[in-house]
Amino acid sequence: MKQDYDVLIVGGGLAGNCLALALQSSHLKIAIVETNTREQLHNSPAGDRALALASGTVKMLEALGIWSHAKAFATPIKTIHISDQGHFGKTRLSAKKEGVEALGYVITARDLEAAVGQLVEQAGIEQICPARVIGIASDEQFTHISLKQQEASLNVSARLVVGADGGQSTVRKLLEIEQELTEYQQTAIVATVKTELAHENVAYERFTSSGPLALLPFKQDYAVVWTRTKEDAEQLLMDSEEEFLASLQACFGYKLGRFSLTAPRRSFPLSLIRAKSMYSGRAVIIGNAVHQLHPVAGQGFNLGLRDVVQLAEMILNEAQQGGDIGAPALLEQYASQRQKDHDTVINFTDSVVKLFSNEWLSLAAARNVGLALLDTIPGAKKHLARYAMGLNARMPHVGSRRRA
Ligand SMILES: Cc1cc2nc3c(=O)[nH]c(=O)nc-3n(C[C@H](O)[C@H](O)[C@H](O)COP(=O)(O)OP(=O)(O)OC[C@H]3O[C@@H](n4cnc5c(N)ncnc54)[C@H](O)[C@@H]3O)c2cc1C
Repeated sequence: MKQDYDVLIVGGGLAGNCLALALQSSHLKIAIVETNTREQLHNSPAGDRALALASGTVKMLEALGIWSHAKAFATPIKTIHISDQGHFGKTRLSAKKEGVEALGYVITARDLEAAVGQLVEQAGIEQICPARVIGIASDEQFTHISLKQQEASLNVSARLVVGADGGQSTVRKLLEIEQELTEYQQTAIVATVKTELAHENVAYERFTSSGPLALLPFKQDYAVVWTRTKEDAEQLLMDSEEEFLASLQACFGYKLGRFSLTAPRRSFPLSLIRAKSMYSGRAVIIGNAVHQLHPVAGQGFNLGLRDVVQLAEMILNEAQQGGDIGAPALLEQYASQRQKDHDTVINFTDSVVKLFSNEWLSLAAARNVGLALLDTIPGAKKHLARYAMGLNARMPHVGSRRRA
């Protein structure tokens, strides 16, 4: 049986493309299968969502040679102001106090995807696109993948298949990996607003009785991520621009002066999808395919990139030793190494959603005491700041192997 690829990556989003770039320095034969053309991906309204990148993520993007191509599109966050509307609790995290240049950066998914996509093209990594996976079966040596390219069918084999095909992952379904699904009955409204006062690189996370509101400094404006119940969100999206801005302003206040809209409102229904296993046979799933999170804590891609670097490091080590990069035992090792990080981030995000979605008095009091305490206990605040910056994560060494 002939082997077509060492690694076949399904999904050319951020996780899939970053993995391809992390592996490009090796002599492994890799290809990416992507359903949408670059143009379709670039024009997708979903690209408007602003991503807050933790500084640990930026370090990894630097190591992968990506950050120098993306930095020009990103805005640094120097201060994070966390507060609870109508209650006394608030906390402030500052880059200066943490001794770092920035707590994180804000970039649109579209700009980061474009930068990563361009690097994949420049590196000459094979892209099978537009094409989608319709069948997967593993034997002792290979995974066999059936692809549909418009009307044509294509069968290929690889030693390892990586499913990086997002929250609705076909690879996860074809591998019959079960998932846990939590429907939050909430929708994130994403928009960009201009404010009368300059942002001075301050990000705001405001927890309100109707849902969390994040204002992230983005170029000269603010990127808004506002979580509301499904019904509220439907109404806010139907409202006129003036009505929408009045509601937003009522929620945030006039600390930054008046808001005006500079980009259309978009909406994202929110759920937590968590796969019950990270691999099956000679196939592994990463990024949103294994964990799709609520954006309240801005951790989805940050967590996904840690999957990427850990997996790349493992594949490169195994390949260097002449081992089997798709061996289920190796994938089991990968899964056990990623488990703790997944558990921590998923539980943290889920608790934040539940804690701050609840108006029950004692819970509201508890969260305010929590925020107030955070502000007075330097250690706790530092821990939260480090967590928000992704600095608690171990840094894999994948970038040091890149070809000059
Ligand atoms: C409103 C909002 C705000 C967010 N904010 C943040 C934030 O501040 N910080 C953060 O870290 N994260 C944030 N996230 C999460 C972040 O956007 C995702 O975690 C990240 O984009 C997931 O990347 P991915 O490559 O795993 O999946 P995707 O981006 O979903 O990419 C999957 C790719 O696979 C392709 N594909 C799908 N099916 C197939 C198939 N069968 N065959 C071939 N290809 C296929 C798709 O076309 C797509 O290109 C936010 C998300 C939302 C919705």
